[in-house]
Amino acid sequence: MLDACCSNPLAGAETCELPAPALQRPARQMALCSSCGEKGKPVQTQTVKAMLAVSLRAMTDGEYLFCRTPTCPVVYFSADGNQTFVVEQLRERVYQKESQADDVLVCYCFHHTVGEIRAASAQARLLIVEDINQGIQAGQCACELRNPQGSCCLGNVRGLIKQYENAG
Ligand SMILES: [Zn+2]
Repeated sequence: MLDACCSNPLAGAETCELPAPALQRPARQMALCSSCGEKGKPVQTQTVKAMLAVSLRAMTDGEYLFCRTPTCPVVYFSADGNQTFVVEQLRERVYQKESQADDVLVCYCFHHTVGEIRAASAQARLLIVEDINQGIQAGQCACELRNPQGSCCLGNVRGLIKQYENAG
């Protein structure tokens, strides 16, 4: 599966210019979250290392996946299914798990919150997207270290804006 923002037609081609080390794909095994049963998204080991609030000695060598299910407490799990890390074990709150919380970040690199986007006018929302785009262009983002999903936030930001627009 492609990165969420790259596969999102709304995100546009200007995103995801980060150098992406080749991710080791799970070798045809079904990398399903043991808690919710949904398919995980492969995430770089450095993202897990940056996000954990527990000793990194707990990590194993294998690949990790990110669980996007809003109602599932698991954020990362090992591809072999033997290990999980839940929301309480992270240093950062996770947008996918609390996407209605005003004080949770949706853009982790440039600090835009759900509440800020909710409260913004249509024009201000465009400026937020523009700010993120300019930060990306300037190479100022570090999504793989700051965003729990380990990839660009822009698809999430655009999705959130669309959600509020559709809600009127
Ligand atoms: Zn899950």
